[in-house]
Amino acid sequence: MENLAPYAATDQSSKGRVYQEASPQYRSEYQRDRDRIIHSAAFRRLEYKTQVFVNHEGDLYRTRLTHSIEVAQIARSIARALQLNEDLTEAIALAHDLGHTPFGHAGQDKLNDCMHKYGGFEHNLQSLRVVDKLEERYAEFPGLNLTFESREGILKHCSVKKAPALNEVGTRFLNKTQPSLEAQLTNLADEIAYNSHDVDDGLRSGLITIEQLSEITLFRRPYEEVKKAYPGLNERRTIHEVVRRMINHQVVDLIDISKGLLQEHKPENIEDVRNIGQTLIRFSPTMKEDNQSLKSFLRQNLYRHPQVISMTTKAHTIIQDLFNWFMENPELISSQEIQKENASDLTDSIGTTRIIADYIAGMTDRYAIAEHQKISAAETLA
Ligand code: MG
Repeated sequence: MENLAPYAATDQSSKGRVYQEASPQYRSEYQRDRDRIIHSAAFRRLEYKTQVFVNHEGDLYRTRLTHSIEVAQIARSIARALQLNEDLTEAIALAHDLGHTPFGHAGQDKLNDCMHKYGGFEHNLQSLRVVDKLEERYAEFPGLNLTFESREGILKHCSVKKAPALNEVGTRFLNKTQPSLEAQLTNLADEIAYNSHDVDDGLRSGLITIEQLSEITLFRRPYEEVKKAYPGLNERRTIHEVVRRMINHQVVDLIDISKGLLQEHKPENIEDVRNIGQTLIRFSPTMKEDNQSLKSFLRQNLYRHPQVISMTTKAHTIIQDLFNWFMENPELISSQEIQKENASDLTDSIGTTRIIADYIAGMTDRYAIAEHQKISAAETLA
């Protein structure tokens, strides 16, 4: 790739793949990672997984798939402006939510609950597990065998307790080093994407209103700007003009501040980036604060809206029932899942519960609903 800054991730400085492979002929290593992610089954399932609104509630809302594509778009723009590796950024963005359960956070919280005695469940760790172990596509290795840098970026956080089991990709949580700049920026691109598109989806659903949002600086400023420039504009176009400005303000702030930090700290290569003791991709303090207030607004008024919560209650029942049924009758799990190589310790109870968690986590919203209906119908007959 041309015009990369010295501190960008490159094929030459990559820590490589767990299973050695010949380099691709016409692609970079990170392009190959991105391509493997796009061809994976877990990626296709993102289309039918809830972001905030359950997939069948409306065709216009974001799903995990469109969310991930929006994150990739934002992340690539930032990467290009900072002369960082766009391909790596795109790979991380497209993979960052692969481990999400059906029904969004409601699904993850319940599955974590169910797995409490067996090591818990965390979607971010699960994303890494999907690309490292659960995808079955290649003859010579399990998973997608992605580069270290893609895996490092996918693993956004990890407890000190769980880090040692993850080998090299877990060490930064023990020795407090930083991931690549590409990973840092993709993490923030994720925030920019959901903060902005949840405003759009929230308004579309009618669960939040422009009046309520006017308390929030990040919304109010662009809203006043648009109203002044286009007084007669209809609501849909007005909202879009506001949301695109919200994204732009955050992206520009992030690029400007990060450019300054990079000039100040002058990392010479990716190892310097890892060892510098702080992240170099950041928002300005004001933007960080504005971001935070939008986040808490959305938490209070959208994610905890009674209508969203009622979906949460249904999701909890479905996940809990599926978990109980599979615990009692592991043979209900499709035989393909059980035959996976990582499932060889089926006699061991923790091994079995992990297979169950993997199976439930991999479900789309509608598959989980259908499985639940199928099993409860069978239960009633029995
Ligand atoms: Mg995300």
